Order: sequence, then structure tokens, then C-alpha cells
Amino acid sequence: MDSFDYRDGVLHCEDVALATIAAAVGTPVYVYSTATLRRHARVFREGLAGLAKVHLAYAIKANPNLAVLRVLADKGYGADVVSGGEMARALAAGIPAADIVFSGVGKTRAELAKGLDEGIGQFNLELEEEGVVLAGLAAARGMRAPATLRVNPDVDAGTHAKISTGKADNKFGVPIDQAPAMFARLAALDGIDLKGVAIHIGSQLSDLGRLEVAYARVGRLVAALRAAGHRITRVDLGGGLGVPYKADDVLPSPADYGTMVARATAGWDVELMFEPGRVIAGNAGVLLTEVIWVKPGVTDPYVIVDAAMNDLMRPALYDAWHDFAAVAPTGDRMRANIAGPVCESGDTFAMGRDIDAVASGDLAVFRTAGAYGATMASTYNSRGLVPEVLVDGDRFAVVADRIQPETILAAERVPEWLEK
Ligand SMILES: *Cc1c(COP(=O)(O)O)cnc(C)c1O
Repeated sequence: MDSFDYRDGVLHCEDVALATIAAAVGTPVYVYSTATLRRHARVFREGLAGLAKVHLAYAIKANPNLAVLRVLADKGYGADVVSGGEMARALAAGIPAADIVFSGVGKTRAELAKGLDEGIGQFNLELEEEGVVLAGLAAARGMRAPATLRVNPDVDAGTHAKISTGKADNKFGVPIDQAPAMFARLAALDGIDLKGVAIHIGSQLSDLGRLEVAYARVGRLVAALRAAGHRITRVDLGGGLGVPYKADDVLPSPADYGTMVARATAGWDVELMFEPGRVIAGNAGVLLTEVIWVKPGVTDPYVIVDAAMNDLMRPALYDAWHDFAAVAPTGDRMRANIAGPVCESGDTFAMGRDIDAVASGDLAVFRTAGAYGATMASTYNSRGLVPEVLVDGDRFAVVADRIQPETILAAERVPEWLEK
């Protein structure tokens, strides 16, 4: 459920007509609903209400906008970060360092050191050497780095290959069968406080059964580690819960997920860490765009909109579906392809889609664009960086400026030997 609804035939975000935002900020622009973010934060937490010790770390790569982070920090969410840049954002948003989980397969030595200096609450180790380096950096500071070992359970998450992370040949985690020996070696190091294990098998997951298989493997690992004499106090279950991209998509709810987690983790007696991203932000945002042309095509016309693959990459990257809806639909329908202005055939959002009839100058949205949208934007084709707006009731604010092509040009230099 989200807060993008028609009132008197015009699409609103909460109490603000999207046309008002388009007039004030221009298009394309991402629009986020505070009410939806808060609602999702609450519903996810409530889904886990039956569990004893829970820590929620919003995976900020899904939508790292500072204002979005502030909304979620106010709801008591920590952060899962995957780079020094994301760590800086989480801290800037007021998220306590102790509530931050540092994930990622390529944390640099400088990032690890920075994380220690900031007092990050948990480092999720992706390989043994990273643990050795982290332990050394921590020991040199007279610290013990709080950490978990991320394991790869070799489970096919049943999602798009590019967002699947728990198969044996994916780059993430250590093979679960090697984890006991590795855990023992790392736990023996002075500079590390190895609290448990972590897992994250993929994103846009729709089949809880596969996740439960992965969690069961982690449960057996925890038992084996305890049998070997290790003290296990934390298990990080990752993120990955999918969201409906189509009106009739049926996805497991946070409550369904919570029920499964309670069953899978019964008796573990650990603090459970969660890293939800998409499920919090996905349906809290739309990409608002204007139709530039309706270009006749061989079979269907091309609706050319002013948003493009550089603004919303998911269709080009994952063949992802985003519902397309007119801001002020006439009631007529048309069959069309929807594409952006970028000079790539991949800059196509939909082919042969049944959509609201639109004409040049009309406003429309791509729905469910709050996660993995603006954060993946680029300036390809020397387009500007798309701005972001946050709505709260009847007010709205630009929470990320449009970065104009001139600003990007101004950061480039011609070396003196090429100057005329
Ligand atoms: C991307 C990621 C997440 C969040 O995934 P969602 O599908 O957005 O919930 C959580 N944990 C890690 C380690 C990730 O890489």
C-alpha cells in the first residue's frame, strides 16, 4: 500500500498534486511519500514483533537520500552500508554508529579503518583476509572489531540473476562448509569480536521457502559453531523481501516473513539483525515524467518521455517492470512502447504495453521507483542528475537538487597542452 492516489482524477502524493511538483521542480523528478516510508518501517517492524531481540538496519543503498534516511532514523532504524560514502550518509542522517552494519565484498582498508574510528556496530566479513586485516587495524587501535562472518549458503533465491547473491558461484560470502574452520581462525585473533554469522541471498525475493532453506542452513552452522565452543550472540539475516511491481503481484508480507523467521530461528537465542531495503522504500516513490512526443511506430507508437535509463536504470539493467500511469488520465487507453531520449535501444521502459492514453505534454509516473531508482542514476548522454522531492502531508521539499549538465561540465578540465 502506498500514498499515491487519484483525487478528482488527478494523481497525488499524499495531499500534493503531482502536477504541482512538476510545475515547481520540473521533470523528470523522483517523488517520495513520507507516510509510506513510515508505514513500511512500522509494518516491517510489526512483522517481526514475535521475535525476542531484533535490530533493524535499513539497507541504504536502496534509497540513500539524506531526508529518507532521517525519516527512517526517526523510526528507530539503523543502517546497512556498503561503502565509505554510505557510512558517511548514515552518520550525517543522525544514525548512531553503533546501529550501523558495514557490509560489502570490497571494503577497502581505508574504509575498514574509518569504520573502526567511527565506532561502527558490526562489520560483516566477506573473506578471511578481510577479517585478518580488520583485526590488525583494530588491535593497533586497542580495539576489538565487532563482526560477523557472511556465509554463502548456496541457495538459489529464485530472483533475477543480477540480484541473486547466495549461490555458490556468486561473489558474496564464504562457502558455508568452510565457515566453521574459518570462524575458529578468525575468532582466535585479538582484534576481533566475532559475534556470529550473516547471510543475504538476494533481492526482490518472492519465495519464502528458499529463504527458509537458507536460514535452516545457517541454523545448523550456528549449532555446529556452538558445539565447537564458540559464543554466538548475533545472526544477521540480511534483506531481500520483494515488493509488488504490478498491481496484481502477490508477494509475501512482512507478517508472513516474520512468521517464517520465527519458525526458522526458534531456539537460536541470538540477536537477529535485519537489513531491509526495497521493502521499505520501493513503493514509497514514483518517477514523475513528461511525455515529449508520441512517435508513430511500425506496430505500436513510441511514447517518448523525458525520463530515461540514466534516471531509472532497472528496466535496462534487469528487464524490470514499472507500472506507468498518467497523472490526469482521460479514461482512454492505448497500446504503446515507452522509451526515453537516450541513444540506446535499451533505453526502453516497456514494449507493447496497455497504458493510459497520453499525448505530448502530459505528465505520467513510473510507479514503485523509490528503491534502486535515483541512487542508480547517472549523467549518461550529458543529462542532468535527476532531483528528488519528499512529500509530507500537504507540504513538499526538494531533498536532492537537479544537478545540471553545466555543473558536471564545470568539473572537467582540458589539460594545458590541449589549450589553444
Ligand atoms: C542490497 C542488500 C540488502 C538489501 O536488499 P533488499 O532486497 O533491498 O532488501 C541487504 N543486505 C545486503 C548485504 C545487501 O547487499
